[in-house]
Amino acid sequence: MSKTLLLAEKLYKNRSLSLEEYEELISCRTPESVQYITKKALEERHKYYGNSVFIRGLIEISNICKNNCYYCGIRGANKNCERYRLTPDEILDCCKDGYDSGFRTFVLQGGEDAFFTDDILCELIKSIKALYPDCAVTLSLGERSKESYKRLYDAGADRYLLRHETADEGLYNRLHPENMQLKTRLDCLKNLKEIGFQTGCGFMVGAPFQTPLHLARDLKFIEEFKPHMCGIGPFIPHKDTIFKDEKQGSAELTCYLLSIIRLICPNVLLPSTTALDTIDPKGCEKGILSGANVVMPNLSPANVRAKYTLYNNKKSTEVQSAEGLKILKKRMENIGYKVTCDRGDVIKISDGKSKI
Ligand code: SAH
Repeated sequence: MSKTLLLAEKLYKNRSLSLEEYEELISCRTPESVQYITKKALEERHKYYGNSVFIRGLIEISNICKNNCYYCGIRGANKNCERYRLTPDEILDCCKDGYDSGFRTFVLQGGEDAFFTDDILCELIKSIKALYPDCAVTLSLGERSKESYKRLYDAGADRYLLRHETADEGLYNRLHPENMQLKTRLDCLKNLKEIGFQTGCGFMVGAPFQTPLHLARDLKFIEEFKPHMCGIGPFIPHKDTIFKDEKQGSAELTCYLLSIIRLICPNVLLPSTTALDTIDPKGCEKGILSGANVVMPNLSPANVRAKYTLYNNKKSTEVQSAEGLKILKKRMENIGYKVTCDRGDVIKISDGKSKI
């Protein structure tokens, strides 16, 4: 039996490997290790979530951002980005459309836009929760103070997504300007979890300069942090960034990593991301068939959707119309899965091995 396959078995059994072992699992992957890990990831996924695919309605509330992440199309310094901001009323309209289509989680994502103060967000969150008490509210609005996170949580927000982007400090510094620090990002994640949010981290696959050792650090971080959610997708270059000529990440490696993450945290909520579906016409299906159990269709108004360009050619799963959601349901049915219209919270594991 190959050494990589032995490592794969060890990961399945222990939900843990050393940094060096993770690195080897990635760089020395073989068709056998990929096949084994995918099979076990699906078994684990089915144990906790059956064949349900949870849907989250993504509302991109603003592309105005004070940060300047080098890879991101909406970074503050990009003069070619046409900026927009939804009003709280427009956001509530998106929630209404989403609710009518069957969505029971709304994800408010955006750049770090100073307009969205704690007061404005708290009022918005309270309005959403008052109108739709059976829905979860997820925020993905970047780094804020612990006090701010606490206020948003107390106003009723349930979950927070903040990708750590990379757990390697050297790589973090090559992807971000000096005023952004990995430590701040990790402190935010720690604070979110302490406050009580269902917390999501995540990273890009195939980011510029990224090596298997960097990815191994991401996996070790996920093993230790035990996120409730984890968003990973391929890096895709954007024309207005210094990384415009870099190679995009691969769908194959993204799927392998999705399966590995499912084995590290069997009950994690794991999206098959838009970025994956953008680089591969069957990306969404491939993610689900690697152990993902969440899809996040776009509920943003059609007239702003093209402006939220984190990367080029971003695909938008069209769900504004009932027809659009039907297509997604069909895509999932075709591979034996079922879109589920409920909040889709994380399932607790009670075997003593998981602390999620
Ligand atoms: N401002 C929020 C939301 C960021 S956008 C925050 O800081 O969390 C959501 C995610 O898109 C980012 O975390 C990043 O991982 C991803 N992203 C940005 N640019 C990308 C690119 N060029 N290719 C692939 N993913 C990208």
